[in-house]
Amino acid sequence: LVARMRPFGTTIFAEMSALAVRTGAVNLGQGFPDSDGPPEMLAAAAEALRTGQNQYPPGPGIPALRAAVADHQRRFWRLEYDPDGEIVVTAGATEAIAAAILGLCEPGDEVICFEPYYDSYAASIALAGAVRRPVTLRPGADGRYAFDPDALRAAFGPRTKLLLLNSPHNPTGKVFTPDELRLVAELCQEHGVYAVTDEVYEHLVFADTGHVPLATLPGMRERTLRISSAGKTFSCTGWKVGWASGPATLVSALLRVKQFLTFVNAAPLQPAVAVALALPDDYYTDFLAGMRQRREQLVGGLSAAGFDVLTPEGTYFVTADITPLGGTDGVEFCRSLPERCGVVAVPTQVFYDHTDAGRPLIRFAFCKRPEVLTEAVTRLGALR
Ligand code: PMP
Ligand code: GLN
Repeated sequence: LVARMRPFGTTIFAEMSALAVRTGAVNLGQGFPDSDGPPEMLAAAAEALRTGQNQYPPGPGIPALRAAVADHQRRFWRLEYDPDGEIVVTAGATEAIAAAILGLCEPGDEVICFEPYYDSYAASIALAGAVRRPVTLRPGADGRYAFDPDALRAAFGPRTKLLLLNSPHNPTGKVFTPDELRLVAELCQEHGVYAVTDEVYEHLVFADTGHVPLATLPGMRERTLRISSAGKTFSCTGWKVGWASGPATLVSALLRVKQFLTFVNAAPLQPAVAVALALPDDYYTDFLAGMRQRREQLVGGLSAAGFDVLTPEGTYFVTADITPLGGTDGVEFCRSLPERCGVVAVPTQVFYDHTDAGRPLIRFAFCKRPEVLTEAVTRLGALR
């Protein structure tokens, strides 16, 4: 194995899901829903399979899906992208992130990201031979995760090539505030840095502000690659259909790499995701309302079980501090949790470079049927 990949073991999601299977525990670790997405989407995929849409689609994605991605961004965020040249379909957000970094970073270039960060960021940065510059998010007295603006300023330097922004943020559930977004935008422009935004939770914002794509801030559209995916919004994480949108120069850099990573992506799933993106507003409103209820259920249950809960403003994850339950290390806590009470969670310290900042924090996913959450909460009640 090459040196640059040696620091990366098996992903924590694989480890914890295997633990759940082995112990029969309720799996609130890896973030995937336990019910299917919209029936219209599933029917369209079946139809595409049956009607022979089974050969290589065009490299950037089928025109109908690129058009649907453009319409969706205009409809929800008033962002205009040309489906011909400014949008490309990828194998999930994961491939888009990897191809963006590989296509934009020279060895030694620096990438700013907020820690804890989604685990593929570090690996993609390492594959490019680039260097990550994490800026730490810490829970404050108000129960919100925030970063030190001076630490963000200090992270920018002559080798900074891009900033990776994930909002709504996994694993913390943080939604970056308008002020925070403004600072990010100012610094990117001051230093001539590109932004790559991971917006896979764009339809899961519980805060009143709603979702604000960084590309909508003045001066940002021309330097931002905006990435999203069908997995979360349409409950089809196993389909791995994602996309990137941005100015043609950035999209073509990404596409140059993507051609040789996967070439193209699953043909029959693309028309189906186009159908899903065009669903009426009710779909999106109901999806959010359902997740809001589950958030209340799990936040309430975790508090009752004795955790110090950090209520998320977005995503379908909630983080909790284990200190009130006598825990000190999230990794140890999560490894023993299935045996102690039959529930699986994920320690968030594995997503930090500065591990200490996340040592007592663990993450639970609430994208599960209400009865599953009820069972999990009952089991967690035994921890006291
Ligand atoms: N980014 C974040 C923040 C995620 O939580 C995930 C997991 N869905 C991904 C990227 C990967 O998305 P996909 O499955 O579409 O590759
Ligand atoms: N995005 C999901 C999570 O954070 C799962 C990702 C994965 O398994 N790689 O739990």
